[in-house]
Amino acid sequence: MSSIAQHLQQVQQQIARAAEKAGRDPASVRLLAVSKTFGPEAVLEAVQAGQRAFGENYLQEALDKMAAMPALAPGGALEWHFIGPIQSNKTRPIAEHFDWVHSVDRLKIAQRLSEQRPEELPPLDICLQVNISGEESKSGLTPQALPAVAVEVARLPRLRLRGLMAIPAPSEDQAAQRSAFAAVRRLFEQLRADGLALDTLSMGMSADLDAAIAEGASIVRIGSAIFGARHYA
Ligand SMILES: *Cc1c(COP(=O)(O)O)cnc(C)c1O
Repeated sequence: MSSIAQHLQQVQQQIARAAEKAGRDPASVRLLAVSKTFGPEAVLEAVQAGQRAFGENYLQEALDKMAAMPALAPGGALEWHFIGPIQSNKTRPIAEHFDWVHSVDRLKIAQRLSEQRPEELPPLDICLQVNISGEESKSGLTPQALPAVAVEVARLPRLRLRGLMAIPAPSEDQAAQRSAFAAVRRLFEQLRADGLALDTLSMGMSADLDAAIAEGASIVRIGSAIFGARHYA
């Protein structure tokens, strides 16, 4: 078994253990394999081990990688999730090539994605990114700005608002990790109580997936635990 296949199996086991501990069905947590900085060979290894959903942060790198992937067997289509910062002049290729976008952090970006989503494709699945730890350096809507933007985004015709994404400030302390994720979950529950049909909490990375699952994550975004350490050019 390749090391990527082995790591995927270990991460799936960790997800299942964390879900069971939280009294949740392991199948209610989806694994998004974050393949940024890794080439098509690494993605293909993960595909051969059964992984279908991949997350990318850098647009040009992602488009090159998609183009380099061999055509897969029928039913073997991959799902591509954009999870990185979005410049407003780069929305068109995102709307044309991705299935999900997790990092929408302003209304203008959502409006452009909706306008540019090709007619022949299903609506683009969207998460709004929330800046939950109030870090100035991080993108994301403030919890205060979120509700009004969510209502507007939910009305856009070519998008489907699915939920929230957050990247809390890194912490080694499980209790601190959990309290940040719990804050995201409360925002999510409030939006649902306000009438938005949301089903997705995209939270948890290699270092904090247990805490995220304990607080209700439905998609965990895992990179280094699957593909190894990243090296930036
Ligand atoms: C890189 C990245 C990840 C994966 O991080 P790891 O710590 O390698 O698991 C998840 N989410 C986002 C938004 C990222 O940019």
